[in-house]
Amino acid sequence: MLHTPITYLKGVGPGRAELLSRELGIATYQDLLYHFPNRFLDKSRYYRISELQPSSAEVQVIGKIVHLKTVAQKKGKRLIATFRDESGEMELVWFRSQQWFMDRLKLGEPYVAFGRVNRFGNTWSMAHPDLELLKKHRQKKQLRMQPIYPSTEKLSKQGVTNRVLATCVAELLKQVLETLPETLPQGLRDELGLVGKQQALVQAHFPDSNNNLARAQARLKFEELYYIQLALLRKNASRKKRIKGFVFEQVGDLFRDFYTQALPFELTEAQKRVLREIRSDLGSGAQMNRLLQGDVGSGKTIVAVLTILLALDNGYQASLVAPTEILAQQHYRAISDLLKPLGISVALLTGSVKEKDRKPILQSLADGSLPILIGTHAVLEDRVQFKNLGLAIIDEQHRFGVAQRAKLWKKNASPPHILVMTATPIPRTLAMSLYGDLDVSNIDELPPGRKPVRTVHRTDRDRLKVFAFLKEEIAKGRQVYVVYPLIEESEALDYKDLMDGFESMSREFPAPQYQLSIVHGKMKPEAKEFEMQRFVNGETQIMVATTVIEVGVNVPNASVMIIESAERFGLSQLHQLRGRVGRGADQSYCILISGGKLSDDAQTRLQTMVQTNDGFEIAETDLRLRGPGDLMGTQQSGVLSLQIADIVRDSELLKTARYHARELLSKDPELGHPDHQMVREKLSRMGVMKNRWDYIS
Ligand code: ADP
Ligand code: MG
Repeated sequence: MLHTPITYLKGVGPGRAELLSRELGIATYQDLLYHFPNRFLDKSRYYRISELQPSSAEVQVIGKIVHLKTVAQKKGKRLIATFRDESGEMELVWFRSQQWFMDRLKLGEPYVAFGRVNRFGNTWSMAHPDLELLKKHRQKKQLRMQPIYPSTEKLSKQGVTNRVLATCVAELLKQVLETLPETLPQGLRDELGLVGKQQALVQAHFPDSNNNLARAQARLKFEELYYIQLALLRKNASRKKRIKGFVFEQVGDLFRDFYTQALPFELTEAQKRVLREIRSDLGSGAQMNRLLQGDVGSGKTIVAVLTILLALDNGYQASLVAPTEILAQQHYRAISDLLKPLGISVALLTGSVKEKDRKPILQSLADGSLPILIGTHAVLEDRVQFKNLGLAIIDEQHRFGVAQRAKLWKKNASPPHILVMTATPIPRTLAMSLYGDLDVSNIDELPPGRKPVRTVHRTDRDRLKVFAFLKEEIAKGRQVYVVYPLIEESEALDYKDLMDGFESMSREFPAPQYQLSIVHGKMKPEAKEFEMQRFVNGETQIMVATTVIEVGVNVPNASVMIIESAERFGLSQLHQLRGRVGRGADQSYCILISGGKLSDDAQTRLQTMVQTNDGFEIAETDLRLRGPGDLMGTQQSGVLSLQIADIVRDSELLKTARYHARELLSKDPELGHPDHQMVREKLSRMGVMKNRWDYIS
């Protein structure tokens, strides 16, 4: 029924059907049914003049005209009526056809005035109101809220006006409403106070009141989100059933010894919780596919190390892959240091490892004598073969594509457990909708004793003051990062900026008192590594760099991060960069330097940085500014093209939907209960329908 072409609807016909399809993508009954009004003229309420508020919505006021006058103005005249109710007075104004109104308006008779109000001085004013005698108004049957449909100029020019659209929808509802099945179980609807499907559809188009409209929309949005969650959770469950994982059931000597003797600090509660989640995955018999989110500096590395030890304790090899050479090196060094007391060997494999050094690594991986390999993309090459890879950890996931992740899977007969670590916190809402089929752990707590980084925004003109501040910090023994943007399109220009900046810094901070490092993408890996190392060792006080240092670099003594041309960075990048400082016990600073003229978005980004250190909050703002598609890349954004709900605005509803979807599947995984038949049926309809109605029909 719902797939009937729209041309068969009474009042449509081939011509209009063509037009509707071309202009609004409405081809079937279903399309029209789900073409919802984007706003309503609210005629459900009558306002008293004393209640008027500044707003863009139309209001309806009952009153009497007590006075009429024309006022001369530069061009022509205007007619002003003083309109009074028992609570006060306002003005009705006409700029055209004054005489016509003059002749017809009746003083002292009650009218209903409908329109937008503006405030001029102390007086509310309504220009060219819809005016109707109250007597007449009362006689007519009123549609209390008139739907206004999204449409195009072409449509209304060709006679398909808003009124025609509304009539078509009303006709459609009359025809199909009775046949539409309920799609949410009664119990769930009762529990959440959700209105029935048929009522929701009627009220979403022709509501009796704002309240009923809100309830109708909530019901339809909930349904959409609930079914997305159900589909994702079921996909996840079936993946787990399909793909067996190695069982790491024992906590062995390595893990135990390290935990009791070599752990350099007490784990935070969040780290402990995440480890429990990981351990339960590893023992479950299903392949782990877990995303570990944790803000910069939250301590993901130690979680990775402990997970690696679990793999080793159970007789498997483990590998950690990072997106950049610098980061891989850092991990290698940090992890080797941590594991030194246990006498476990770790190797590093990156693009710059020489052929002759590579051979023994590959050999010992293949014969199983090398338990841990850390590296970059080089690890993914086909000739890198493990004896029994049981765990693959990927750091900074947003740099890796899905295809690359799949390569790790293929290193074994059966896929290793996968732990993906990311420091770009994916907003909760997005994580829920996108990774419904991936388990997510959060380290939502920083190690104790961290002082929040203090962030300020300065312009180019403040540079001398900034330099003076740097000198003070360096005198206290601290170190400083100065970061320049590097955007691919303007690479040449960016390098010039970087070099100019480096030169002016060198002049301002002369040797031998000051030592500067510089690191950028065009340098050879060895040169980069050499410069990084000098900074890490404290031989240089200032690190001038492009965003190559964005990920993972850990120099606790660095206390100032200066970001040049900060307006050119995205929010998540700014947040990542700021995370490079604030790792020690000292107060740290982030100084965002920008030009004087900023776009609104840039202004919002910099302000957000100044106002908060909370990665989740920042990511939510980012999502709002850029929209979900852009944030995740177009490839994944399809998941997010919702019909009714809005992933940002309806995040609370999404949480509720998620919760109830989980609950349903834990009670009745196969949806065999008669009460759940409608759910099963709708899910199977979603399974075959690969169009944009997947989630709502
Ligand atoms: P990220 O999550 O950004 O990868 P790291 O794992 O690099 O963070 O940890 C950042 C810093 O915090 C490191 O110096 C690490 O040694 C330290 N750290 C991690 N966990 C704790 C903890 N529980 N207590 C104290 N310091 C910690
Ligand atoms: Mg890290």
